[in-house]
Amino acid sequence: MSKFDHLRGVPGARNRLAAQVWEGARVEEGPAEIPELAAVAVPDRLRETIERHMTKYPDRHSAVLPALSAAQREHGWLSPEAMNQVAAVMRVTPAYLESIASFYDMLELEPVGRHTIYVCTNISCTLRGAQDLLEALSRATGSPIGGSSPDGEFRLRSFECLGACDIAPMASIEGQYRGPLRAADATVIVEHLRAGEPVEKLLEEKSSGFSLGGKTGSSESARESALLFEHNVEPELHRIDVYERLGGYRGLRKALTEMDQDSVLAQLEQSGLRGRGGAGFSMGKKAGFLPHGPMDKYLCCNADESEPGAFKDRELIHRNPHQLIEGCMIGAYAAGASRAFIYIRGEYATEADILDAALAEAEAKGYVGDGIMGSKFSCNLVVHRGAGAYICGEETALLDSLEGKRGNPRLKPPFPANQGLFQGPTLINNVETLSNTPHIVVNGAKWFREHGTEKSPGTKVVSVSGNVQRPGNFEVELGIPAREIVYGLAGGPPQGRRVKCWFPGGSSAPVLTEADLDLPYDFESMAAAGSMLGSGSIIVVDDSVPIVSVALRLARFYRHESCGKCVPCREGTNWTVKLLERIDCGEATPMDLDVMASVQGNITDHCLCVLGDSMAAPVSSMVAKFRPEFEAALTKLAPSELPVFPSKEKPAISGAS
Ligand code: SF4
Repeated sequence: MSKFDHLRGVPGARNRLAAQVWEGARVEEGPAEIPELAAVAVPDRLRETIERHMTKYPDRHSAVLPALSAAQREHGWLSPEAMNQVAAVMRVTPAYLESIASFYDMLELEPVGRHTIYVCTNISCTLRGAQDLLEALSRATGSPIGGSSPDGEFRLRSFECLGACDIAPMASIEGQYRGPLRAADATVIVEHLRAGEPVEKLLEEKSSGFSLGGKTGSSESARESALLFEHNVEPELHRIDVYERLGGYRGLRKALTEMDQDSVLAQLEQSGLRGRGGAGFSMGKKAGFLPHGPMDKYLCCNADESEPGAFKDRELIHRNPHQLIEGCMIGAYAAGASRAFIYIRGEYATEADILDAALAEAEAKGYVGDGIMGSKFSCNLVVHRGAGAYICGEETALLDSLEGKRGNPRLKPPFPANQGLFQGPTLINNVETLSNTPHIVVNGAKWFREHGTEKSPGTKVVSVSGNVQRPGNFEVELGIPAREIVYGLAGGPPQGRRVKCWFPGGSSAPVLTEADLDLPYDFESMAAAGSMLGSGSIIVVDDSVPIVSVALRLARFYRHESCGKCVPCREGTNWTVKLLERIDCGEATPMDLDVMASVQGNITDHCLCVLGDSMAAPVSSMVAKFRPEFEAALTKLAPSELPVFPSKEKPAISGAS
């Protein structure tokens, strides 16, 4: 029993655990001595796995997450015995390992049920009935939410966001995604798992994702474009022979045989390709920031797609992993990097397996490794799995996590281009950004600029979810009216409903209203409207949903995901949740709205990374745009009239279609 056990498994636990660390306490609970390997009985399979992982990185500590995950698979949870075994093989202390493991949601520090069920309860899933599903699963398994069933069979947790909003409400069952699920499916799930049937066979008629949007890759609508999704209808596109037949790896060949590093960089810059992960910064410029000359440089592909509402990178990897691998090699060549990493979130286990298989094919064909395609360029690539922490999508937190530490953002400067992974210059790009580079190299910058707008060239894969009739990923030219995406491609809200508000760039983006749907969907127009395009993830909320409940759901997510390193974010997210709970329960006073505005003001621009602002901006926008509704909630004191959504016993779901 650790003295911090009471903090684990409750909302904001990482946040408060981190507070203990930053306030000088030690969370390390295990022994502070490195155990002698000879004195520890380590299962052969586990030892071999850990040793194999340690050889993949310049620093063995990077193997901490893969090693802990392997130990968890071996033992079911990270018991003191499991920790001791990992520590002995990695030559670190169990105390160090526990300080890492306590940061990541997917690592279990107490015994858990044999079968793991994670139900996504973030905004898009909750809008479509996740709370009902979660409660039904709790009844069927006998497990409390966040706990394990008394018979030791089930571990049931609410999780957010699992990146499958197109099949909301959904669950990850033993790592396999299934959706859309209904409360009535709970019994089938439980009986199937109890009977020991293979998880692969469970609810096979349900989708594992990408059920609607992006399916054809072209022309379902005149406004749908196809560049990254061009070959989505091709069977077995994930296989290297299929990818090659369709022109795959031509971009890498051209870069290595016809262009030098500078001309690839110049072409990327001239193309105007902007980062597709959220910031929208020029990819070519970013790559050009890395110093030239012989030194250890790195490329990191950020596949830690965790922004609520985003699921485009998962589809890009799932359908076309070689497009990304080719993009990584072109990016590494442009940056002069000799080592590349794809940091993929731990929840995307299926996609990580797909990437591993594709990488083995690419290595065997000489597209990755030493002397690629007979050139002088060498670069190896490692697929690195995270373990459940939204903040690891922040680029410097990702670097720390990849180095085997807690995923805390770093102070900038120095910027990763100068001092990033293992202290070396590092280029960090998102999956969609890198997937664009083979097309630019093959077809040229001018061709790329023929798509989209002058300042936002190219296409964009947009994830649309929430209260729409056809959620999914859609590849569109930047600059088309947002209304065409929401109504034309995603079918608009359910019949009889109107769009109340929409997040244009994931849950971190300030909300816009129905009137803003006529704006061009591009970086500039979204910024001019007071929001942002971000990762290109549109969440639609219809007019049946109480806005206070949406704000509360969102604030709880950011409170949970705050790493706790800086006070405005750590305390501000918690205060915001408490104030919204008071408003939602009708126990607040008008002054509480002003207090909340003051809290948001103290968070904004006062944090080390953008997470604090990512909560403050959308919450502030909701209060600004729907203040009368917040004020009405203050005075609406009859509990039976209060809005019910995720904060209450049952969600008020509209728009489930
Ligand atoms: Fe951590 Fe501060 Fe970033 Fe919040 S803003 S996640 S506390 S570094």
